[in-house]
Amino acid sequence: MTALEATVPLEEARDALWDVVVVGAGPAGSLAARELARHSLSVLLVDRSSFPRKKLCGCCLNRASLSALEKVGLGDLAIRSGARPIRELRMIVKGRASLFPQATDLSLSREVFDTALAREAVGAGAEFLPQTHASLDPGTGPTRSLRLRQGEREGTVRTRIVVAADGLGGDLLRRETGSEIRIGKRSRIGAGVIVQTAPAYYSEGTAFMVSAQGGYMGLVRLEDNRLNIAAAFDPEEVKRSGGAGHLAQRLLREAGLPSIDGLAALNWSGKPALTRSRHSPAGHRLFLIGDTASYVEPFTGEGMAWALTSGIAVTPFVLRALREGPSEIPEEWSRRYSQLFGKRQTICRLITQMLRRPLLSRIVLDVFSFIPALPRALIKYVNAPIGQ
Ligand SMILES: Cc1cc2nc3c(=O)[nH]c(=O)nc-3n(C[C@H](O)[C@H](O)[C@H](O)COP(=O)(O)OP(=O)(O)OC[C@H]3O[C@@H](n4cnc5c(N)ncnc54)[C@H](O)[C@@H]3O)c2cc1C
Repeated sequence: MTALEATVPLEEARDALWDVVVVGAGPAGSLAARELARHSLSVLLVDRSSFPRKKLCGCCLNRASLSALEKVGLGDLAIRSGARPIRELRMIVKGRASLFPQATDLSLSREVFDTALAREAVGAGAEFLPQTHASLDPGTGPTRSLRLRQGEREGTVRTRIVVAADGLGGDLLRRETGSEIRIGKRSRIGAGVIVQTAPAYYSEGTAFMVSAQGGYMGLVRLEDNRLNIAAAFDPEEVKRSGGAGHLAQRLLREAGLPSIDGLAALNWSGKPALTRSRHSPAGHRLFLIGDTASYVEPFTGEGMAWALTSGIAVTPFVLRALREGPSEIPEEWSRRYSQLFGKRQTICRLITQMLRRPLLSRIVLDVFSFIPALPRALIKYVNAPIGQ
């Protein structure tokens, strides 16, 4: 995969007054940058990583994600990037396996997916600054300023609007009052690894999900046959087990799944507390999208759908803020944001709370096997296009 290079040098970026600076080139930020650039705005997309970059994720794109992409003419992006179909989800709770057809649609590594989306943003006219860390200065004036750091080099850029899409681990808004993060009670942490060689049992076309005391994890083959593992674990359980890899091994063993050689010794990546929100997804000349605005544990695999949808939905609000000045628009974005994601995130939160009780989860799975219409309805809801 070819690298996506910067399209503008830092020195030039800091001399301009931008219409919009988007921070974070994940699904939310890249799609927002693309949509805004398509309206002939001057858009700067900044990311601290170089692309392709890895991102801890289950790498499953559900139907709602694909519908969001279709809405903006990118319906074929995942497939043309090499995504593989997923026919079924095999869930194992307390040793009992259940099969759910069409729970999610495609698997694609985040290196490939996110680079393809960032490339679309550049193709639409956005300028791209990778390997650049951004930090928002406090401000209430007609423009906002951001400090950019590229290794030893530094600069300040000015923009009329900031779109914050720096995700769970981002620190863009560290000094922004009113944007403090609220962490969900007993929030789990993220952990993941990509395995080069894994037993053939973990076959293409099936997503595996194991849930037990201490957390859950998903396993899926990627487009290049590597096995992606992504988990939400209780932090105390990770400590007790001697690390995420050891806990993952235990979960596989308890589920009766084939063990993966050297799993504990691999270089696992982590994410801070997963369930979180902010007081508001907007501020002065500032719009928050994707995980930056709010996130709930990944069990239902909807994060990318929320991120992509918010990246599209924010566009008219940014356009109006540029035309009319900020006025009431941030509050309107807050309301729209809750309309789009409030109910979905509540349902996801309830499911993840249920999962903390493996016996209850097992009972629910038993009920599901007697009344298959119930899981079908839930899967249909999770996969339905958002906001239509
Ligand atoms: C364990 C786990 C499993 C998951 N599984 C799935 C799944 O199967 N399906 C699904 O749909 N979702 C899943 N998700 C959720 C999904 O990964 C996220 O919801 C999605 O990536 C959010 O996209 P985003 O654009 O908001 O943020 P991100 O994809 O996190 O992008 C944020 C970007 O901002 C950049 N950045 C951060 N700070 C700065 C800064 N200060 N300056 C410049 N750049 C910065 C980062 O480098 C990064 O590129 C999972 C999440 C976890 C943790």
